[in-house]
Amino acid sequence: MTEPTRIDHWRDGARWAGTGGRYGDVHDPATGRVTGRVAFATAADVDAVVAEAQEAGRTWAAMSLSRRTSVLFAFREALHRRREELAAVITAEHGKVLDDALGEVQRGLEVAEFACGAPHLLKGGFSDGVSTGVDVYSLRQPLGVVGVISPFNFPVMVPLWFVPVAIACGNAVVLKPSEKDPSAALLLAEVWAEAGLPAGVFNVVHGDKEAVDALLENPTVRAVSFVGSTPIARYVYETGTRHGKRVQALGGAKNHMVVLPDADLESAADAAVSAGFGSAGERCMAVSVVVAVDPVGDALVPLIEKRMAALRTGDGRRGCDMGPLVTGAHRDKVASYVEAGAGEGAELVVDGRTVAPDGEADGFWLGPTLFDRVRPGMSLYDEEIFGPVLSVVRAPSYDEALALVNANPYGNGTAIFTHDGGAARRFQREVEVGMVGVNVPIPVPMAYYSFGGWKASLFGDTHAHGMDGIHFFTRGKVVTSRWPDPRATRPGIDLGFPRHD
Ligand code: NAD
Repeated sequence: MTEPTRIDHWRDGARWAGTGGRYGDVHDPATGRVTGRVAFATAADVDAVVAEAQEAGRTWAAMSLSRRTSVLFAFREALHRRREELAAVITAEHGKVLDDALGEVQRGLEVAEFACGAPHLLKGGFSDGVSTGVDVYSLRQPLGVVGVISPFNFPVMVPLWFVPVAIACGNAVVLKPSEKDPSAALLLAEVWAEAGLPAGVFNVVHGDKEAVDALLENPTVRAVSFVGSTPIARYVYETGTRHGKRVQALGGAKNHMVVLPDADLESAADAAVSAGFGSAGERCMAVSVVVAVDPVGDALVPLIEKRMAALRTGDGRRGCDMGPLVTGAHRDKVASYVEAGAGEGAELVVDGRTVAPDGEADGFWLGPTLFDRVRPGMSLYDEEIFGPVLSVVRAPSYDEALALVNANPYGNGTAIFTHDGGAARRFQREVEVGMVGVNVPIPVPMAYYSFGGWKASLFGDTHAHGMDGIHFFTRGKVVTSRWPDPRATRPGIDLGFPRHD
């Protein structure tokens, strides 16, 4: 047995043990073994890192856009070069299969590519001669130090939704990653250093509520980007804004995929299985509810069941389709929903508790699970399960399917499967969800659009990356300047309110 490795913070361009003395266990979910001990930062640790970040950020913000952008390009290249190393770290601590981990790195890398366009994206406006000798122009300036607090399910991609954009805009960042899979954040820090980012501009503090609260309360931290579960997102939003910060807090989800009777059912079944069980359902854009509009359920459920029989659950390093859940506690919680669903009258079609994994016995296993005839009011439907449990709800009509989606408190992602363009167009206009797929099950926007849900899936008004990201990480300023023609006569004193003559 190898000793668990110590997972440190990253401060001033190097690893740092911190002063806390509290640690969290990090597991390899495919073996169940403790592989790391992550340091938990104290509030004083966080404050010290923030103070240094403020200094480093001032110098970084004063650097020319060209020099800043060249670091972004180098970061993109280094990230690409080290993508397999990053994916291996993700799989070792999160459990998702290697190929999926590589996909995660790729989607994060695309945000770094977007951020390379900062010189264009940060351009202001200019109005020449708004009044005699007067021009008006607008600037976008960095905020200073910003905090990013990320969840366990995308230890690389979610930090990269924010960090490259914040840095490209001239800010310094303090990242507080999930304590369940913290090592990827340190690799990202190494990649930034390799790219030539000055020390102190990107920092990592590990920890739990104490570290989060310190970021939310420290007055030097001007903005916080959070991604995680809805109760914590709400807490972060309320606490951060109470302390005068700009906050975007992305929360949980319950994503519905509506299948109309005219849909291509083979494609819809493929999509339901891919989007339901990819990453063991631990994606905020996972499909957790298939809404089968009558009479499609009778044909669709057997097609989904057949595909599930071919899925191989096991160690993500062995070429399996689906890996373990992130921790033993989370596996037990998800399994308890399976138990409850059967008791609440839903029809258990495939029971993942009986899976025979291709992996060690102590891994955090739960196989793909399918319920039919699920209804609102059952815990299976009402709660975000965040595991490999797919529920089929039967709806008598399009209108009732739409009403179901719109009545759900979450509004992250949704999809409609149909051959009817008019129905798809109507759905896209009527559905109260932030990201919509038409015959696309996981409609994650490209980096140059913005990612974000509605209702309890996002607190704040700004989504992640794309132009929303540029706006979130900068403050607007408008300058009105008068440079009169030296040959013109002076306008003289005028106590009236300025007009535009
Ligand atoms: P989580 O809310 O438990 O943790 C998220 C972050 O908050 C972590 O860094 C954690 O350390 C911190 N945290 C946890 N408890 C806290 C507390 N009491 N006070 C202060 N900070 C606290 O979420 P998770 O389990 O890591 O991630 C899964 C959740 O994230 C799911 O609900 C999923 O839907 C959601 N998610 C949403 C999106 C999105 O874009 N909307 C994306 C990914 C994940």
